[in-house]
Amino acid sequence: MVTVLKSGVSDEQVENLCKWFRDRGLDVHVSKGKYQTIIGLIGDTKQIDTELLESLDIVESVKRISEPFKNANRKFHPDDTVIDVNGVKIGGGNFVMIAGPCSVESPEQITEVAKRVKESGASVLRGGAFKPRTSPYDFQGLKAEGIEYLLEAKRLTDMPIITEIMNANYLPLFEDVDIIQVGARNMQNFDLLKELGHTRKPILLKRGLANTLKELLMSAEYIMAGGNDNIILCERGIRTFETYTRNTLDISAVPMLKELTHLPIVVDPSHASGIARLVKPLALAAAAAGADGVMIEVHNDPQHALCDGAQSLTPEQFDDVASKIRKIREVAIE
Ligand code: PEP
Ligand code: MN
Repeated sequence: MVTVLKSGVSDEQVENLCKWFRDRGLDVHVSKGKYQTIIGLIGDTKQIDTELLESLDIVESVKRISEPFKNANRKFHPDDTVIDVNGVKIGGGNFVMIAGPCSVESPEQITEVAKRVKESGASVLRGGAFKPRTSPYDFQGLKAEGIEYLLEAKRLTDMPIITEIMNANYLPLFEDVDIIQVGARNMQNFDLLKELGHTRKPILLKRGLANTLKELLMSAEYIMAGGNDNIILCERGIRTFETYTRNTLDISAVPMLKELTHLPIVVDPSHASGIARLVKPLALAAAAAGADGVMIEVHNDPQHALCDGAQSLTPEQFDDVASKIRKIREVAIE
């Protein structure tokens, strides 16, 4: 349920009303926007007499939220959430380019790619250390050593880093990681999501291979229910009957999620297509559709990549995509 307050209400009046809600066992979330203050309520709101509430001097309106996701709901928090990752802002008009290899392979590889993508305008470095591979016989990532190499690249380039977690037991290794990625295969690993809810780290939550937007938002809700609101959603393509591409990029997810939630939305055109030459058109489509960023796989030697070489751009190709994204944003985004 949300209670929209009239403009000009004092902090003390807001606090008094919040206390009244808390005394009734409700979880209270205050969202102070430029023009309006909204009090979001979670819990047994059936006990609240909405007519009585609406009759209060300071209350403009009261709305029940029918969607099962509350914290992530835009009705709860009308302004865009802006996530600050060591000074790099994501959301609310701040576009982020996340780039780097599928997996960290060596200190030289990750540092070389980091320098190159930074020069092209990327502001966050990606690189998998724990890799969720379909086959147990494929390269599984360098694990803790991979995180060490990423941290070294972070020190050398001053770029925040993002890497995937597959198991909450590894959380201590992620202390200096700036954004923790939850991969598509773990989108509904609820125990992992709950653990991440207890941290205050920014989380990039990827949409599952066959999950609806509602399910994606409910997974975000798991993390937010634990008190961690720093979530970036990621559309990375879904399973359809089409086989020419690795997945099908659901571009409509971007404007739809913008309506449904205040959380930033990033698009991953690399896993969505699986084909390097399709990455550019899909990245540009994402920017035109209003995404808050892209995450693109870039390798200094795609032909010899240990993972996802076919969809990896060279640093030169990434440079071209990055400059075209800036142009698209100039014309498509007001
Ligand atoms: C990745 O980004 O490295 C990855 C494994 O992606 P996804 O979880 O979307 O398959
Ligand atoms: Mn990959």
